[in-house]
Amino acid sequence: MTELIFEKSIKGMTGITLTDKEITGTFIRPEFLRKKEPVLPQISELEVMRHFKELSDKNFCVESGFYPLGSCTMKYNPKVNEYLASLEGFTQLHPLQEDRDCQGALELMYKLQEALKEITGMDAITLQGSAGAHGELCGMMIVKHYFKAQNDIKRTKVIIPDSAHGTNPASAGMCGFEIIKVQSNENGLVDISHLKELFENNKDEIAAIMLTNPNTLGLFENDILQISEIAHKNGSLLYYDGANLNAIMGITNPRVMGFDIVHLNLHKTFATPHGGGGPGAGPVGVVEKLKEFLPVPVIDFKDGLYFRKYELKHTIGKIKEFQGNFGVLVKAYSYILMRGNTLKNASCDAVLNANYLKENLKDSFDLPYDRPCMHEFVLSGDWQKAQGVHTLEIAKRLMDYKIHPPTVYFPLIVSEAMMIEPTESENKARLDNFIAAMKNIAKEINENPQETLSAPHNTPVNRVDETNAARHLDLRYRNE
Ligand SMILES: *Cc1c(COP(=O)(O)O)cnc(C)c1O
Repeated sequence: MTELIFEKSIKGMTGITLTDKEITGTFIRPEFLRKKEPVLPQISELEVMRHFKELSDKNFCVESGFYPLGSCTMKYNPKVNEYLASLEGFTQLHPLQEDRDCQGALELMYKLQEALKEITGMDAITLQGSAGAHGELCGMMIVKHYFKAQNDIKRTKVIIPDSAHGTNPASAGMCGFEIIKVQSNENGLVDISHLKELFENNKDEIAAIMLTNPNTLGLFENDILQISEIAHKNGSLLYYDGANLNAIMGITNPRVMGFDIVHLNLHKTFATPHGGGGPGAGPVGVVEKLKEFLPVPVIDFKDGLYFRKYELKHTIGKIKEFQGNFGVLVKAYSYILMRGNTLKNASCDAVLNANYLKENLKDSFDLPYDRPCMHEFVLSGDWQKAQGVHTLEIAKRLMDYKIHPPTVYFPLIVSEAMMIEPTESENKARLDNFIAAMKNIAKEINENPQETLSAPHNTPVNRVDETNAARHLDLRYRNE
C-alpha cells in the first residue's frame, strides 16, 4: 500500500530553508491571516520527489503499454507537439492582448480552422469547445438557434441511434430536445425502415439526427446518403459526432456524407493528450447556412491582419472563455503539419490494425457483427459468460499482461461488450502480443477460470469496489 505524503511526514523535516531573519510585517490584512498553522506534510525535497515518482510509476499510459480503449483513440502523442506548445511565444501570451500583439497565435488558430475545414469539408469552424461533449452542446445550440431564427418552434426532437455514445443524448437533452431512439438493424447499422417510420410519425417536429460514422460498433453506415436525404427532405439537420474521425480522415469527410454540423475531438484524432479528463478541444464545423450561428469570436483574416471577429448575426454567444484551450490547438496544428499529406495514412493504418486484431480474435471470442470494421470493433464476452466469467473479469485479467483493458459494456446494444481500438500507433509485434494475451485468457477460462475470476494479480491494487468508488468518491485526507 502506498503511504500518503502526510503519513511520510517527519516532524521538523523541510524541503527548503528560508532565511533565518524573521519575516515581519505583512501586506495581508489581519482578518485574512491564518489563526492556526496549516496542516502540511513535513518532508524533504528528495522524499517528495520519490513519493510522486512512485505514484506516477503506478499509473498506466500509452507510453507504458498497449492501450486499446475503444472510442477513445489512445494514439501516441508525439512529444514534438508538447515542445512546440511550450514555446514562450505561446505560453507567455495573455488572452486579452490586442490582436496586433498576438498575430502569431491568431495565425495559428486561423490556419488550424482552415485545415479542419479541409479535413471535414465544412465551411466554417469554431475552436472554442473544450471537449467532444462540449462541441456537441455547441452544435445542438446551433441547431436550436437555427430553427428559432426561422420561427420554426415545433422542431423539439432529435433522433439518435441506440448505439450512440452517451454524450449524444445528454448534449441534446441539455439543449431541451426530446430524444428519439432509432434502432440498429441486424448488421449494426441504422435501421432505415425504423428511421423512416420515426420521420413519418414526427414529421415537422424533428430538428436533427445525431450520427457517428463509423458508428460506435466501428461499422461504416453504408446508407448514410439515404439517411441524409431523408433528414434534409424533412427540413431537419444532420449532426456528425466526429470523435471517430480517425477512421476516415483524408479518405472521405462528413460533408461528402451530407452532414451540416460536425464536432471533432482534437484530443483523440489529432494526437493531443487526454488522460485524466483533459484539457481537450472540441472544435465545431458548420456548413454555409449555419456560419452566422457560431460562437464568437471566430478567427478571421483581412488586409494582412489576423483578428478576432465578434460580429456574427445569429451567434449563440460564447461557450468558453477566450479562445478555448489554446495549448491543445497548438499541439493539434503541429500534428496536422507534421503529417501533411500523409494524414490519411494514419486512418488507413488504424483501420488495418483493427481488422488484423478482429480477424485473429474472432475464433476465441464472439464477434456479433462479422464485417470489415473501421478503426475499432466490438467483441462480446458471451461465450465466456456461459463459462461463468464476465467481461469485467477479462478486462481485469488483461492488466496482469500490462495491457490496458478495452472499453467494456459499451456500446449498450452488445452484451458483455469489449470495444477494441488499437490505433495506427502500434506495430505488428504489439498487436500479436495482445492477440496472444486474449487467446491465453480465453484458454485459461476454459481450463482454470479462477485465475481470471480473481484477477488482477500483478497490479498495485486488486479488485476495488467500483460502484462504491464511483458513487461515494471520497478523496479527502483526514488528519484527525
Ligand atoms: C469520446 C467521444 C465523445 C465525447 O468526447 P469527450 O471529449 O470525452 O467529451 C463523443 N462521442 C464519441 C463517439 C466519443 O468517442
